[in-house]
Amino acid sequence: MIKMSFHFLLATTILAFALSLVYASDPSPLQDFCVALDDPKSAGLNIPRNTSNLVGSTVTPVNVVQIPGLNTLGISLVRIDYAPKGLNPPHTHPRATEILVVLEGTLYVGFVTSNPDNRLFTKTLYPGDVFVFPEGLIHFQFNVGKTKAVAFAGLSSQNPGVITIANAVFGSNPKISADVLTKAFQVDKKVVDYLQAQFWWDNN
Ligand code: MN
Repeated sequence: MIKMSFHFLLATTILAFALSLVYASDPSPLQDFCVALDDPKSAGLNIPRNTSNLVGSTVTPVNVVQIPGLNTLGISLVRIDYAPKGLNPPHTHPRATEILVVLEGTLYVGFVTSNPDNRLFTKTLYPGDVFVFPEGLIHFQFNVGKTKAVAFAGLSSQNPGVITIANAVFGSNPKISADVLTKAFQVDKKVVDYLQAQFWWDNN
């Protein structure tokens, strides 16, 4: 009886673990395609976007929201425009790996591995160069050139999601308790108050 319970528990645990792995990414397609709506429109990827904002960058997403035909296909795209010194600030995609290619300009890019190493990988990219940001890891791109920059990136989800770190931590609604943030960041409350008082621009 005890042995059977153990095996049942083991099987249940393995099943739960397997399910968590499966649902960490888009499910496999059940058909060739699954167009939710017949609503063709231009993605606008040919048009440079205005980058006059606090971070100096603008992301133009092309995911299942813009192209319903991507439904169930596990893939999407973004165009990113950068002003000189423009930054796509540290962020993560909870559901996708990203592969970025530079079309124009010079980008200093990087990502940080998970705990406990938190190792930073960086590279300076020129037109035609490619870089991969693994799923879930915090990453950024910074225009270190004197001209504007343009990059495109493919993402391994129809709905990658974006968590911009500063916006989520210091710009949440409602605010995270200062008691939590002073301890987490090992700073005085006035630093937390200052950061929470900033306007955290969303460039997506
Ligand atoms: Mn990204």
